[in-house]
Amino acid sequence: MTFPIPHHVETLQPYIPGKPIEETKRELGLQEVIKLASNENPLGPSPLAVQAIRESLVEAHLYPDGSGFLLKQKLASHLGVTPEQLVLGNGSNEIIELLVKTFVGVTDHAIISQHSFIAYKLALHANAKQFVEIPTKNRKHDLESISQKIGAQTKLIFLANPENPTGAWLLKDEWENFLAKVAEKNAHTLVVVDEAYFEYVTDSRYPNSLHYHHAYPHLITLRTFSKIYGLAGLRLGYGVMAPWLAAYLDRTRLPFNVSVPALVGGLAALDDCEHVKKSRESNSLGRQYLQEEFEKLGVQSFLSQTNFLLIDFGFPAAPVFDALLRQGVIVRPVANYGLPNSLRVTVGTDRENEQLIIAMKKVL
Ligand SMILES: *Cc1c(COP(=O)(O)O)cnc(C)c1O
Repeated sequence: MTFPIPHHVETLQPYIPGKPIEETKRELGLQEVIKLASNENPLGPSPLAVQAIRESLVEAHLYPDGSGFLLKQKLASHLGVTPEQLVLGNGSNEIIELLVKTFVGVTDHAIISQHSFIAYKLALHANAKQFVEIPTKNRKHDLESISQKIGAQTKLIFLANPENPTGAWLLKDEWENFLAKVAEKNAHTLVVVDEAYFEYVTDSRYPNSLHYHHAYPHLITLRTFSKIYGLAGLRLGYGVMAPWLAAYLDRTRLPFNVSVPALVGGLAALDDCEHVKKSRESNSLGRQYLQEEFEKLGVQSFLSQTNFLLIDFGFPAAPVFDALLRQGVIVRPVANYGLPNSLRVTVGTDRENEQLIIAMKKVL
């Protein structure tokens, strides 16, 4: 017996997450496995968040505050925005999904960039929305071509800055030119800038998109607690946008989309400046170390402002990925991003970074 599955679902490919540690141990009979595949914080969660989450569990029988009042208050003052500009989500992935569902109609389309974070494409495809994918230039967003494609039906443009998996980032002047062009072509187009790695960026030429919301009211910023805050397992992210846009997402989201541990953990994590500082410093040193070691090995690594590096072998990377797995190191293949010769590696602890380099030497 068959059931007529809608075409957009039949043709949908599921998201491929990083390979789990336990699965790798089981399959390859390994004792010790390290995972540098999902851009998680190698220092773990904020200790303050862990304590707050523990204490909150006795209230697990109660529904969470569906409005996220306390977290929005604190986040708003942390960011210099108003609580009405914030939408909390089950990871920023949920905000991506909500934006697509809420703002792209049947005759509309979205614009995405080649080699971009795959969640945008998946959300559009899963919701049967049309989209245009613009090729990159030297693995960077081609802002000129993107702005040329903007028309009356362009409702959303997704841009990650910095980008995942390429690590490429836009500079202030490019960004400002782009915003001006979008406003000129279609002032109603929503520009969604995904700043999941914002807290890792050190380049002073990097534009903090929150500074542009005033001049460009159709700008939406996405951030997350999954990366530097080390809370990927809790699922907490947020969008910053004009209050009238946020109000629409409040209609389309599920009533209790963010759990009690996520609300409480996020609140405590914002107070843990020490953890953020340590994470940023450790990442910066680790990234430098890996870059130097890859260079010595003759492996091309691209400049990065994030907690990961894209490396390129100049030949198919799948056998390198498999061989690294057998050495107990999980990294991320990115062939599904159109980058078959590359792997993405997350910056780990000092020890993990050394293990990765030792394994890479053996494998190559
Ligand atoms: C990791 C990442 C996110 C975070 O997603 P969450 O759902 O918040 O865990 C968002 N965007 C990009 C580009 C990422 O790499």
